[in-house]
Amino acid sequence: MIQDSVLGPYQEIITARASDKKIRSKSQDGGIVSALLIYALEENIIDGTIVAVESNEALKVEPKVATTKKDILKAAGTKYTMCPNLALLKEATRSYGLEKIAAVGTPCQVMGLRKMQAYPMGARNVTDKIALSIGIYCMENFPYESLRTFVCDKARTAPQKVTKMNISKGKLFINHSDSKDAFAIPLKETHGYEQSGCNYCLDYVAELSDISCGSVGAKDGWSTIIKRTDNGASLVDEAINEGVLEVTDTDEGKFGLEMLKKLSTNKKKKNQKRIDKKLDMGLSIPFAHSSKKKDILENR
Ligand code: SF4
Repeated sequence: MIQDSVLGPYQEIITARASDKKIRSKSQDGGIVSALLIYALEENIIDGTIVAVESNEALKVEPKVATTKKDILKAAGTKYTMCPNLALLKEATRSYGLEKIAAVGTPCQVMGLRKMQAYPMGARNVTDKIALSIGIYCMENFPYESLRTFVCDKARTAPQKVTKMNISKGKLFINHSDSKDAFAIPLKETHGYEQSGCNYCLDYVAELSDISCGSVGAKDGWSTIIKRTDNGASLVDEAINEGVLEVTDTDEGKFGLEMLKKLSTNKKKKNQKRIDKKLDMGLSIPFAHSSKKKDILENR
């Protein structure tokens, strides 16, 4: 196991995509999460998962228990607003009787999951049914109202007309049915619209997950996968051996792993500065520590 101060603990980093073109066409980037969930379901490694699906209101998402390939494919694609997936864990075990659940989420959700597992107060007989945790790279996330602003005020279209959203190369792209070209918003113009908590978050690559993945560090249509735990690594390896995932060379250079490390480092540094500033002002931030040696010693 490699202990990396920027990417967290991991066994190996590879670049891969789903072999199934149908999964890729319905998914974001390489379709890794959908392909792994479907494979794990078919191999009885899990018996269900919780996915984010669009609610009756366009762009608004809600969690849903998924127990079939169809359910998983229906939810494919990144959502750029928060979905409280963990809130459905109890129902997944009690009402659906799931015994082996895969939890997919942002780094903060993976952290919440691990805390629940460590201190399962109110969640006994639930957290022991977590069979797998897949984390998605996350720089920031937007409340629903911010997404509406991007779509209605900036792209000047209606939420119902949005066909896809994607963050790539420093821009948020909004595809909608009014135009064949995606509307692009530079990410520097989206600052201030993110959830306030994201400004104090130090985890870009879901360091506590079994498997982390995202498009950063890979060429278009592919994803980088960070194999972390034995559990996660064996699932990815099996999926490759069975032809569910196809692998390509991993770019170690400035558009590859260097980029992944750079973004993770930048997030940690930038947000640690904000944490330090708040603590200097005497304000508290739950679970955050000052980076200043003196403060750390004093708080012990
Ligand atoms: S930036 Fe951090 S707090 Fe915000 S959604 Fe992503 S993981 Fe969660």
